[in-house]
Amino acid sequence: MDTFGLKIIASDKVFYDGRCRKMTVPAADGEIGILPNHENMVIAIAVGIGRMEAEPGKWQEVALGGGFAEIVNNRVTLIVDTAERPEDIDVRRAQEQRERAQEQLRQKQSIQEYYHTQASLARAMNRLKLAQDKKWNL
Ligand code: ATP
Repeated sequence: MDTFGLKIIASDKVFYDGRCRKMTVPAADGEIGILPNHENMVIAIAVGIGRMEAEPGKWQEVALGGGFAEIVNNRVTLIVDTAERPEDIDVRRAQEQRERAQEQLRQKQSIQEYYHTQASLARAMNRLKLAQDKKWNL
């Protein structure tokens, strides 16, 4: 079998449900590659850019929020906070998110609010990175 089943579930939608040939996911200690028949495991997903090859030679990128991936019997399930394609990223909104989070970090916050703001800032920076990479075709 040269594909695996892939389901990417974000908080507000099923982002992808189909077959995939190869993918990489951002983990705490770097990118992890997933090929068909990968051993069963659970991976903590960090905020970052995932890449998937659903059609031969056609790689799609996705801005991922934090979450986890479960690999069981050639089926991969990603459960993440957020998932966006580069073309769906609203750059203005991401810039506002980044500025809001940076301003909040300058204010006194509870530990819980601090982690929430840090995560929001990381998602905003990740969106901007993916949108900019696409814009300049890097
Ligand atoms: P905001 O206050 O702008 O909603 P937020 O930090 O609350 O910022 P998230 O919780 O990261 O936003 O995302 C909420 C939803 O909005 C998710 O479905 C996410 O995919 C989408 N989203 C957030 N920011 C953007 C963006 N810049 N472009 C496209 N979709 C976005």
